[in-house]
Amino acid sequence: MRVLVLLGAPGAGKGTQAHILARHLGLPRVATGDLFRAAVREGTPLGTAAQAYMERGELVPDEITVGMLLERLAADDAARGAILDGFPRTRSQAAALDRALAERGAAVEAALYVDVPADELLARLSGRWLCEAAGHTYHETAYPPRVPGICDVDGSRLVQRDDDRPEVVRARLEKQLGALAEVVEHYRAAGILQAVDGRRPIAAVTNDLLDSIEPVPYWRTHP
Ligand SMILES: [Zn+2]
Repeated sequence: MRVLVLLGAPGAGKGTQAHILARHLGLPRVATGDLFRAAVREGTPLGTAAQAYMERGELVPDEITVGMLLERLAADDAARGAILDGFPRTRSQAAALDRALAERGAAVEAALYVDVPADELLARLSGRWLCEAAGHTYHETAYPPRVPGICDVDGSRLVQRDDDRPEVVRARLEKQLGALAEVVEHYRAAGILQAVDGRRPIAAVTNDLLDSIEPVPYWRTHP
């Protein structure tokens, strides 16, 4: 079983790469957010347990999250492995995942890290502006309006949501980067971290990621 972990900060393009890699490698993309929603919807024992924590506003314990992940990896479409998108988020989750996989004679094959410097992340995440009239979205650098501060479509004023202000984004990002750095370090210490430069165009990042892992023989992805 081939378990790949995809790591990256918010705004790094990790989710995009997870979808592309899943298609290229013929492996399902497994996102813990989706797992939670499915388990709660289906009322599985772990889903019910997770829901109780979430309703109390508490963090779901790692054992429950890892348990859901293992149930997902036991599904037919994950027989050859999976790409984990959004998990582990903390060092303790990474360790819990290692232990759970080891009990099944498996291991994380590689941790693929889409590396984007903090200042670039901040620029990507905080440059969003919306028009007052219809919520048309713009980005200061990626998709600027023709006239600064004015919507191209309807001429209304562009405003920034509190969530998109640089100081708010920075505070949130700093917390997230701290946890990410620990997870990155966990896999670096294990000798399976593959970091690629996430500032490059999407296709170039994909190529770097694919180059960094062992190719899978065609017969394994198309039995
Ligand atoms: Zn508009």
